[in-house]
Amino acid sequence: MSSNERTRDHGERAVLTPARMNKAGLCIGCGACVAQAGESTARMRFDRFGQLRPRASGEENGSSAFAEICPFSPTSTNEDTIAAERFASSKYTDPRIGRYEACYVGHVREGMFRAEGSSGGMANWTAVELLEKGLVDGVAQVVPSSGDQPFFRYQISRKAEDVRKGAKSRYHPVELSGIVEEIRRQPGRYAVVGIPCFVKAVHLLRRQDPVLQERLAFTLGLFCGHMKSARFVESFAWQMGERIDAVAGVDYRLKDESRPANWYTAHLEMRDGSSRSRDWWHLVDGDWGAGFFQNSACNFCDDVVAETADISFGDAWVEPYASDGRGTNVVIVRSPELHRLIGRAAEEGRLELREVDGAFVVRTQAAGFRQRREGLAFRLSWPRRGVRPSKRVSARFTGLAPRRMLIYWLRSVISAQSHHVFWCARALHLPSLYLRWASMMLAFYQGVTYSRGWVGRFVDRIVPREKGD
Ligand SMILES: Cc1cc2nc3c(=O)[nH]c(=O)nc-3n(C[C@H](O)[C@H](O)[C@H](O)COP(=O)(O)OP(=O)(O)OC[C@H]3O[C@@H](n4cnc5c(N)ncnc54)[C@H](O)[C@@H]3O)c2cc1C
Repeated sequence: MSSNERTRDHGERAVLTPARMNKAGLCIGCGACVAQAGESTARMRFDRFGQLRPRASGEENGSSAFAEICPFSPTSTNEDTIAAERFASSKYTDPRIGRYEACYVGHVREGMFRAEGSSGGMANWTAVELLEKGLVDGVAQVVPSSGDQPFFRYQISRKAEDVRKGAKSRYHPVELSGIVEEIRRQPGRYAVVGIPCFVKAVHLLRRQDPVLQERLAFTLGLFCGHMKSARFVESFAWQMGERIDAVAGVDYRLKDESRPANWYTAHLEMRDGSSRSRDWWHLVDGDWGAGFFQNSACNFCDDVVAETADISFGDAWVEPYASDGRGTNVVIVRSPELHRLIGRAAEEGRLELREVDGAFVVRTQAAGFRQRREGLAFRLSWPRRGVRPSKRVSARFTGLAPRRMLIYWLRSVISAQSHHVFWCARALHLPSLYLRWASMMLAFYQGVTYSRGWVGRFVDRIVPREKGD
């Protein structure tokens, strides 16, 4: 047995399997293990918490190569090494955003990409441009699943109009095994759009499989705060007085140009043709930072900006862009070929892009970097059972202000408990059980984080804020 097949577990060494990763809270549900298992009976299924998990008979899909393709495996190749192999001659390297050629802030000027996109429309524009320029034959992206639950799925779009229909961010579990199977089956060149751990998984699979190596031409990354479970949208429905089976479609971020881009509105299309909307700030679980329904593996992620992707896209969460309801992207370009592609389009006036430095991009994701750097170091120092994650950040228990420790601890409690409390409320047909619990936890979280309400005043007395808190 090679060292890659083993990992430390309570002083013993044991074979790493999807089941053990799941038990340790390190399965993101990407489906890479199922894709690797190929034609076996392994499948991705939703668990009782609305999260995708591999289901196989016994340890079937815990093959010797599993430890090398699972993006959260402690022995798989890390983002630094993958990026060093892929972008060996990159112009810049930054400890937070990795290797890159250039960074930009801006949006798409041509067509409806910006209006139809979640942010500035750059992600979907790039996907369409790759297709239209004949650089790829298909784009793997996440699209609505025509009125059926689970609402969204990965699809390979082969026509520009299909890619356009796939615009917008889906904070919903999806998995890659189907599209990897299709790429293996159908010769051609492909681009894959994904959040950082999915893009990493694609590269890990590619390293093992010459067919994927030849066919996966580009990876388009989305910055990521964390992944939610499918219960997030179910909770939206409850709070809008509806049942999830009456919902036909979801828009997590309904665009309204007259309001700041960071005022998200959740929008549900109902089966009877009506619709419901509510601002995230008026939802008990709509404060992103509180971590409701967060996948537990996200507690152990250290890649905010998809460091292994050829190009990555995020939201420009700094002023004046955050207040511009039309949406603005930050873009990190790593592939020289894609750099030329977007450079030419900017010269032609099809894109509005201004070059910025890496520090600007980091500022747009300040909260994400706090959570994945100092927060991750703190979480790694906590005792845990089972598989130990191996990260590019070292464990550190000391050095944080007590208030920040409290925030990280509270966030992890909310994210872990939200799955269980919602499951219980769902089983008992008692939405109020979850909604009351979530309101209470939100009050604690916002009290500690923003000194809001009586909880804030109380916490301020016991754990006074320090400079920078
Ligand atoms: C779970 C999640 C968390 C995110 N967290 C952050 C964050 O913390 N900070 C930040 O700046 N940005 C974050 N983003 C990215 C952000 O929401 C936008 O997707 C990004 O700014 C690109 O916007 P756009 O207008 O260019 O994309 P669009 O032009 O709307 O195109 C989006 C493309 O991404 C595809 N897509 C949508 N959802 C998924 C998905 N789940 N997996 C794979 N592909 C998908 C679509 O099919 C489409 O091709 C997150 C996205 C997701 C999915």
